[in-house]
Amino acid sequence: MKNNVSGIILNVVEIFKSIQGEGANTGKAAVFVRLANCNMSCWFCDTDWSQSHKMTVMEVLEEVKKLSNPNAYPDNLLIWTGGEPTLQLTDEILELFQDYYNCIETNGTNPVPKRIEYISCSPKVSPAELKKNFTRVNEFRYPIKVGDRLPDISELPKADNYFVSPIFLGEEKKRFQQIDENIIYSINYIKDNPQWRLSLQLHKLLNIP
Ligand code: SF4
Repeated sequence: MKNNVSGIILNVVEIFKSIQGEGANTGKAAVFVRLANCNMSCWFCDTDWSQSHKMTVMEVLEEVKKLSNPNAYPDNLLIWTGGEPTLQLTDEILELFQDYYNCIETNGTNPVPKRIEYISCSPKVSPAELKKNFTRVNEFRYPIKVGDRLPDISELPKADNYFVSPIFLGEEKKRFQQIDENIIYSINYIKDNPQWRLSLQLHKLLNIP
């Protein structure tokens, strides 16, 4: 079966090694596989997921192996991101990536494959829709800007962490002014709603590639 799986074609934007910049795994080394395409079109999207190239699953695995550090096992983070990775990723594919701690960054519109070990959900659908897709996730990361209200946590599937993630916007010059406003708003929101935690997009603040 593995031979058939290894020939499956994925549309890939990029594969790279960096540190996780947000959420509960912030600061950990990880290999990222950014898969193409999304079923949403958020106005604040910061990723061009339309530019992709085709790779077989085996080619993706080889690239991941080159970038990852075998000594990192069992904390060998492999982060499937996008775009929306559930549009392409399946349990069949993940069978080839069992040596890794498979994490997914998803918008919550679809259930994730069962072999995923860590779910980071940045929801773009209602709590009712999320409850259809998940009984629990590891973390929610809600993008937030000045004026936004978040759902009551009791309406959401269970999670280990509920993060607010201030939205970074616009060109470089404006970015810090806008992020300041969104960060201050987020901090005040958390003071009033202390079940939420702050998650800053460290990679953007520090310009980490
Ligand atoms: S769900 Fe995520 S990847 Fe898709 S458009 Fe929105 S921000 Fe971009």
